[in-house]
Amino acid sequence: MGDCVGCGGGAGPFSEGRELIEFVYGAHGGAVKDQLIPNGGLSTVCQGCGAGFTLITFIGQCPECEGVHAVSPPQCHDAANIQFAGKDYKLPD
Ligand SMILES: [Zn+2]
Repeated sequence: MGDCVGCGGGAGPFSEGRELIEFVYGAHGGAVKDQLIPNGGLSTVCQGCGAGFTLITFIGQCPECEGVHAVSPPQCHDAANIQFAGKDYKLPD
């Protein structure tokens, strides 16, 4: 943990909103985004539609509206650190 997350200019693990989503998406060549959050994930409320769901992996989508949410590994101890990409955001295929 923590070996290269956060290096490079611009976006990092403490960015907010879409910038954070895009940072996590590309972190470690895409290896981070599908990793499980320790301790069973973070219980949260969708910042797009208000539905409750559990963020299981570092990037996840609301089951109701598919809103994209992400948290970076250094901040995954607290659901308050979950960032929302915005209602019109879609993950790249
Ligand atoms: Zn939602």
